[in-house]
Amino acid sequence: MSISEEPRLYASREPIFPRRVFGRFRTLKWWIMAGTLAIYYLTPWIRWDRGPNLPDQAVLVDISTRRFFFFMIEIWPQEFYFVAGLLIMAGLGLFLFTSAAGRVWCGYACPQTVWTDLYILVERWIEGDRNARIRLHRQKWDLEKWRKRLAKWAVWLLIGVATGGAWVFYFTDAPTLLRDLFAGTAAPVAYGTIATLTATTFVFGGFAREQICIYACPWPRIQAAMMDEDTLTIGYRGWRGEPRGKLGGAGNGDCIDCMACVNVCPMGIDIRDGQQLACITCGLCIDACNGIMEKVGKPLNLISYMALTDETRERAGRPPKSVWKHIFRPRTILYTTLWAGVGVALVVALFLRHNLDVSVTPVRNPTHVVLADGAIRNTYNLRLRNKHGEDRWFTFSANSPATLVLSLEGSNDLRVLVPANETLEQRLYVTAAPDSLGAMTAHTPLRLWISDEDGIKVPRAERVYANTIFNGKDD
Ligand code: SF4
Ligand code: SF4
Repeated sequence: MSISEEPRLYASREPIFPRRVFGRFRTLKWWIMAGTLAIYYLTPWIRWDRGPNLPDQAVLVDISTRRFFFFMIEIWPQEFYFVAGLLIMAGLGLFLFTSAAGRVWCGYACPQTVWTDLYILVERWIEGDRNARIRLHRQKWDLEKWRKRLAKWAVWLLIGVATGGAWVFYFTDAPTLLRDLFAGTAAPVAYGTIATLTATTFVFGGFAREQICIYACPWPRIQAAMMDEDTLTIGYRGWRGEPRGKLGGAGNGDCIDCMACVNVCPMGIDIRDGQQLACITCGLCIDACNGIMEKVGKPLNLISYMALTDETRERAGRPPKSVWKHIFRPRTILYTTLWAGVGVALVVALFLRHNLDVSVTPVRNPTHVVLADGAIRNTYNLRLRNKHGEDRWFTFSANSPATLVLSLEGSNDLRVLVPANETLEQRLYVTAAPDSLGAMTAHTPLRLWISDEDGIKVPRAERVYANTIFNGKDD
């Protein structure tokens, strides 16, 4: 085989001009599109009063304080396990939906699908439906074509800017950033991010479209592992539709070969050829075909959501299983249980966490110092995080079989003020008097107590830390 005959890894793109379609899946897609876009664009503008010293934006990834705010929930960098838990839940949710109903995520809620749908809506609004767009595509670049194309690109660009703009609003106070952006005083990274997201939205939604799903996204390849013969996907009842041909033709099946299902497909595929990697399970071909079946007076659902097991049953003349039997089966119940388990664990962790977070790191190089009078001193580095919205005093005490003296670096007493929503690094010294039990014993157990002063506003403010005093006798 010569090089020119070798199969190519990439086929140049054939433009797709999806026709407008009406039906329940199209309506569902409109609602999901409106909902997801509204959530994305409007969320940064929702205000949430957290009191003084804290941002009043309901959803905010605050880069300056390295915290994530989500309505009444506040996640600190040390609590990254919450984010990890949410990602695990998102992954399990995808597994669940894919094993129950195939690529419904791709067909209905994936950002690539939602924005492409929006861009096609604009395209149809300016250039007309499928036939008009095909004509315009083939037409030479005259005034009309330039006018329509420039108008379409301008609206696409505006959507791209709004998309990039909405993204940066999640990372700082939205009203302030909007003012700064228009005044030209926002950080360069904000302008850079908006420009990048504008460009990617414009190219992915306007030009690349289905190419992203087919060539760039790994999900179609991974999903096969989560699907089985009971998973609902889009199927064509070939045993009913074939041989396709003119309505009323002798021996013809129900498919009148009108191509409506192909013409509405945003991926440009013919589902009658069987399940394909490119199919995003959007259901538009079902709407198109049902519209035709209604017109020609044939039973609906020549194309529908169905599982392989249904196909086998129907071919044998038996009715398909109910949808619920496909959705509730051991595999999906397992995914639901895992998903709910992680969710419950996160909620419990959320309610059990404390407003004061302390970490204690013993300084072990050296493990101890012997003072001039023979006393033994150990050093601890403390990190105190005050997650309250107000400054707070904390006090230190110790429990130990030995008599130990505590002292704080830079403080005359055992109190320290931690500013609101801040982390304070503090050094603590623990000293055992000469010839005392602590100075004479190799390891002395020590429990440090760090308490909120008024003890009422900070529930569970006290902490116990077990540590060991080294006197170096057995070093
Ligand atoms: S074949 Fe049908 S379900 Fe699959 S992408 Fe095309 S229109 Fe959507
Ligand atoms: S829309 Fe239905 S009838 Fe028309 S070509 Fe597709 S499967 Fe056949």
